Amino acid sequence: MTFLNGIAASNGIAMAKAYRLVEPDLNFEKKTVEDSTAEVERFRQAMAKAKSELELIRERAEQELGADKAAIFEAHLLVLNDPELNTPIEDKIKSENVNAEAALKETADMFVTMFEQMDNEYMRERAADIRDVTKRVLAHLLGVQLANPSMISEEVIIVADDLTPSDTAQLNKQYVKGFTTNIGGRTSHSAIMARSMEIPAVVGTKTATEEINNGDFVIVDGLKGEVHINPTPELVDQYKKVHEDYEKQKSEWAKLVNEPTVSADGHHVELAANIGTPNDLKGVIDNGGEGIGLYRTEFLYMGRDQLPTEEEQFEAYKAVLEGMNGKPVVVRTLDIGGDKELPYLQLPKELNPFLGFRAIRLCLEEQGIFRTQLRALLRASIYGNLKIMFPMIATLNEFREAKAILEEEKQKLIAEGQQVADNIELGIMVEIPSTAVLADQFAKEVDFFSIGTNDLIQYTMAADRMNQRVSYLYQPYSPSILRLVKMVIDAAHAEGKWAGMCGEMAGDETAIPVLLGLGLDEFSMSATSILKARSLIKGLKKSDMEQLAQEVLNMQTTEQVVEAINKRIK
Ligand code: PEP
Ligand code: MG
Repeated sequence: MTFLNGIAASNGIAMAKAYRLVEPDLNFEKKTVEDSTAEVERFRQAMAKAKSELELIRERAEQELGADKAAIFEAHLLVLNDPELNTPIEDKIKSENVNAEAALKETADMFVTMFEQMDNEYMRERAADIRDVTKRVLAHLLGVQLANPSMISEEVIIVADDLTPSDTAQLNKQYVKGFTTNIGGRTSHSAIMARSMEIPAVVGTKTATEEINNGDFVIVDGLKGEVHINPTPELVDQYKKVHEDYEKQKSEWAKLVNEPTVSADGHHVELAANIGTPNDLKGVIDNGGEGIGLYRTEFLYMGRDQLPTEEEQFEAYKAVLEGMNGKPVVVRTLDIGGDKELPYLQLPKELNPFLGFRAIRLCLEEQGIFRTQLRALLRASIYGNLKIMFPMIATLNEFREAKAILEEEKQKLIAEGQQVADNIELGIMVEIPSTAVLADQFAKEVDFFSIGTNDLIQYTMAADRMNQRVSYLYQPYSPSILRLVKMVIDAAHAEGKWAGMCGEMAGDETAIPVLLGLGLDEFSMSATSILKARSLIKGLKKSDMEQLAQEVLNMQTTEQVVEAINKRIK
């Protein structure tokens, strides 16, 4: 039995066999072959294996994940069947007497370079397909197995170095019971996705991929942040009990599902949910969400090989608005960049992606992408209570520019005879310190703020949210963060606007009492945290929490703040 310690990223206990989502070693040596005819045959066999594997994956993806996710594999099959790629590889084996691996790689690299340089976006996207297909055929030539997450057909715990948001988007919740990764923190997007999928996760274990083999029996303890590999039967029994107790606790909280969130002295706040896709709606309703405080639309753009159309987006937004039945839905426009990549956009690699060309910066430059999204949102606005929010706003000019584009699209739609709601609130994420500092000026122009503490903390403390070595600096309870939060809430209230928070801090038990005291109006969190938060708030008096907030704002260190909160609450 082996034990790993990590960061508890998503609550609950999961037990199942391990499935490693780890890239195999695809290195090889270029060699001369004696029998080139036999080598061509070996290449053809690898191609045939790759083809039947891809057909199976496509079929499975279509059944389980939908036609849009399956389209990637359709494109891969087209590449695989293309004689323009295959013939030159076979010719190379014959004319140069090289091994199939080298002929495949060299020919494919040549096509990839050629396609990447083309002006046509469609052709540039084909380069990524060729790269993927080459990898698959190469794996068969080398006799190693690529991980195929969409082929999982039994209950598993995913083990990976890291899970990108697009990896996570491809996981089927029916089979994926939990996951554990080497890197990441509580606010890395894989952790956030795990919470929205309601699967237990432990991230940042450092060595999960070294210690865990395919098929090992694994317990993921997402309550404590522990991973047990091939545990003793006694430990399994203990964990069954922990799981039962946790389920019991959850059914206690579940009694609050239809209740409003009111403090012990009668102050109402809104507890909303963060979602990534319309599929998350059920979790929001089951957990008594009073609205959606953050719909991260970037997941609509991931796990596929081209941008979603206006129509696809319209359908997704409409589904969420209708599903929430008139309750508020805050949709955030595309926040790509940082750890959320879209390979098909082929953006140049950056040294500091979290500080780079991302989110609103990209949208204001690539206006075609932005305008399509805004049109889809505006058209969907008549189906519910839509609020639109721009991410990563650093200056008033960015907000004004984005607002003007929205207004232009609105006027165009009206001129086309389309219906658009006329009461759409327009807000911003406050996740860059410059905006928090200037919140009083922003408050005159926006309808609401939503404080994005996941980024606000990393930018304020200059501590990467994904980097464990600096996680001691990444502290929501630091008086500096609390003061910024206060500035934003006070600025909103001074202009009669509302202030919410959609960073993970909003669902954090230690932070909630202080946030209540600071006057936060809306707390948006993973759906699975809502009932627990409601139960906590019902037991607190806002007037007491105002005093507590006042106290901690004047403290010097995070430790003092945590101690004061614990003393008061427990
Ligand atoms: C945030 O930064 O707090 C936030 C909610 O956005 P994301 O986690 O998607 O960056
Ligand atoms: Mg953010």
